[in-house]
Amino acid sequence: MLETAQGVKVKVDGRNVINFCSNDYLGLASHPKVIQALQQGAEQYGVGSGSAHLIAGHSQAHHELELALAEFTGRERALLFSTGYMANIGVMTALLNAGDTVLEDRLNHASLLDGGLSSGARFQRYAHANSQHLAEQLAKAKAKGNKLIVTDGVFSMDGDMAPLAELATLAREHKAWIMVDDAHGLGVLGAQGGGVLEQLQLTQDDVPILMATLGKALGCCGAFVAGSEALIETLIQSARTFIYTTALPPALACASLTSLTLLRDEAWRRDKLAELSVYFSEGAKRLGLEILPSVSAIHPVIIGDSGKALAVSQALLVDGLWVTAIRPPTVPKGSARLRVTLSAEHDKADIDYLLTRLAHHCH
Ligand SMILES: *Cc1c(COP(=O)(O)O)cnc(C)c1O
Repeated sequence: MLETAQGVKVKVDGRNVINFCSNDYLGLASHPKVIQALQQGAEQYGVGSGSAHLIAGHSQAHHELELALAEFTGRERALLFSTGYMANIGVMTALLNAGDTVLEDRLNHASLLDGGLSSGARFQRYAHANSQHLAEQLAKAKAKGNKLIVTDGVFSMDGDMAPLAELATLAREHKAWIMVDDAHGLGVLGAQGGGVLEQLQLTQDDVPILMATLGKALGCCGAFVAGSEALIETLIQSARTFIYTTALPPALACASLTSLTLLRDEAWRRDKLAELSVYFSEGAKRLGLEILPSVSAIHPVIIGDSGKALAVSQALLVDGLWVTAIRPPTVPKGSARLRVTLSAEHDKADIDYLLTRLAHHCH
């Protein structure tokens, strides 16, 4: 149980620890300007939004955030959802029906898998980041019916990137749609923090459906989908997880807008995070730890056995290091891991200490 604000130095169950498992990659969750925006937003709009967007809950703050997110991502329009989980379910159930086919990376986030399963479409999974395998499945998919390719931009438990340029080309060749969930790339990748699509310069024509969350690098809560006018109108009319739920508190939209400005204008956080990521990876390799190649702030240390992963996590906590063990079914069997996540608020001494203790407990 966390007793302090989210951040790098936190108190958990009475113990002061360094946090290495949060998705608050830029340290914005407790940034004074973001907190102030939330307070001012609450004074202006109150706390609750009072209703769903389509009844009486859509405020000017929501509208401004949607405009800013569309501009930031270079898409025609954006639509807010209360959580990323709901955004993914909403998009996929709105766009797909029986007779359609959804093709997903095997390591996609649970919300994407659930969205695909509940859509009623034929559900296919391709080998992780394997565009060749996807091409074979696309060739076999029914000619009639829509095809939707769905992938994490940065994989949430692995930290690597989907081969998006190849996937976008395949989508074009096979007249399929493609949807990218960039929960872990937004704010972290791209010169302006626009995520994997900015980094690879993929436009709305290349990737028509972009989803990302406000709860990770932005340090707030909620999510959005960005794309064409037609996509957003379709979601407003038929995404049930948008229609039938209370809108985010407007003050949270105010906080997210401030976060977005900080994230875009203050690139030093992104630069520092990238530098720390290289520092961690090189140190881990030197010490012979089994890590996965990462392009992001996510650095899994593979342990394999679930019991051992738990034991190492416990031992780290006693050392003052907080790294939750991630086990099946969240990750494939036999690949239990410590999912180390870095923040722009860490410094090299924090990482040195983590690496020393990891090496001690893992070997
Ligand atoms: C966190 C996450 C989500 C869910 O977002 P919430 O806003 O936490 O519901 C969806 N997709 C990915 C890849 C995520 O990491």
